[in-house]
Amino acid sequence: MTIEKNKLDELVGMIMQEMTKTGLVQNNTCSTCDMVSSSSKNGIYSSMDEAIKNAKIAQRILFDSKLELRAKIVKSIREELIKHAEELARLGVEETKMGRFEHKLLKHQITIEKTPGLEDLRPYAFSGDDGLTVLELSPYGVIGAITPSTNPSETIINNSIGMITAGNAVVFAPHPGAKKTSIRAVELVNQAVVKAGGPKDLVVTIDNPSLENTNIMINHPDIKMLVATGGPGVVKSVMSSGKKAIGAGAGNPPCLVDETANIEKAAKDIVDGCSFDNNLPCTAEKEVVVVDSVADFLIFEMQKNGAYLLKNKEDIKKLEEIVVKNGAANRDYVGKDAKYILSKIGINVGDEIRVIIAETNKDHLFAVEELLMPVLPIIRVKNTDEGIAICKDLEHGLRHTAIIHSKNIDVLSKYAKEMETTILVKNGPSYSGIGVGGEGYNTFTIAGPTGEGLTSAKSFARNRRCVLVGGFAIK
Ligand code: NAD
Repeated sequence: MTIEKNKLDELVGMIMQEMTKTGLVQNNTCSTCDMVSSSSKNGIYSSMDEAIKNAKIAQRILFDSKLELRAKIVKSIREELIKHAEELARLGVEETKMGRFEHKLLKHQITIEKTPGLEDLRPYAFSGDDGLTVLELSPYGVIGAITPSTNPSETIINNSIGMITAGNAVVFAPHPGAKKTSIRAVELVNQAVVKAGGPKDLVVTIDNPSLENTNIMINHPDIKMLVATGGPGVVKSVMSSGKKAIGAGAGNPPCLVDETANIEKAAKDIVDGCSFDNNLPCTAEKEVVVVDSVADFLIFEMQKNGAYLLKNKEDIKKLEEIVVKNGAANRDYVGKDAKYILSKIGINVGDEIRVIIAETNKDHLFAVEELLMPVLPIIRVKNTDEGIAICKDLEHGLRHTAIIHSKNIDVLSKYAKEMETTILVKNGPSYSGIGVGGEGYNTFTIAGPTGEGLTSAKSFARNRRCVLVGGFAIK
């Protein structure tokens, strides 16, 4: 009788689980996990099928272990990855040629520190004459996660902590343009898991990321949930997969400034937010809509804080010709420094220039398109009503992020209600919405289209009802 290799692997996995349960092997230590799968190097496979198969075995081990193991794994990921935050930030800039090292470093630090762990998985209970019912948050199994080029390792660390906390394994399908950075992040997370006594291959990926491999992952029967962090294409593809899907898609965050705002502070906050990682975050300010009576003052203050104002139409046209291609952002300029972009239209400035600003109308491509670069159009309006209508229009119903600078409670309330965005930042830079200088936990997967909002462990768990009839009603 012959046994197929995948069946054999499954059997070995089950035997290891039994040995762990019965105490023959202690705490799922690394040596047991090595026996489960020997073909991967730190979770990196050359075949998507192999990666998924081994992630499935690792997930079963995690699920059969105590919650204490998950807590140890998360602690270890935090402790180990922080040692490599600089390395990953540097690698991300070098490989993708986008963003700024110091901001990528901060993004890594914040996600390592502020992604929630087990405290996020709260049970819910009903009790009465008929007994006790508990709603528990249980894992999906193996999750397939698509990650972007704009926050590659940040998203992998963030997703890993949340997904493992909820008891899942993860197969990552990274952006091919951030292959090295993503693979390195997966390796480091694997090492941290094993160091904590967890199973290897809880987090896996492939050495040849491609659209084809992503599609194999999406359609694989052992992938029980899909999470897409990226542009409209990936969100659509996971949402039409027929599986449970979380879609974290594009945004085009407007920033409204009214006459009651602290203009000096608003100007600095806007430049800081817009230039953060050269505007790569989907949450960053993409256009400013300002009430006419304070527009000149705002522009003046922005210039004092590192904004370069393009004054004449010819320069604005020249900029448009290079940064927009076929009606959308030209990838050659995505995430580039303002100084570099300006040099390409013959304007040489110093390092203090972080953002390029230009007055445009509301229909200009700079405002309508998500450019993901430090080019910020400024649109004047008569009053806040007109401003809110334009902001709503420019957000395109994506329900992603909006920012406002105002001290008028009525305007703040109306803006919040009309915009319907997942994140609304009032009187601060956009990044305070993802936990940088604002209260609340961090995520790099902001799910507007599917409604989970700022994802965390509970977003990656299934709600299950456990009913005990007639007992434990002790009120
Ligand atoms: P992208 O959409 O170009 O690619 C993301 C990943 O999806 C890559 O791995 C890519 O190979 C893959 N992919 C692309 N099209 C696919 C398809 N049809 N089927 C399967 N896989 C596919 O993303 P990017 O350029 O790296 O990231 C930028 C975009 O992502 C921006 O629009 C940004 O706003 C958005 N984003 C959103 C969030 C959020 O949390 N909402 C976070 C980061 C980035």
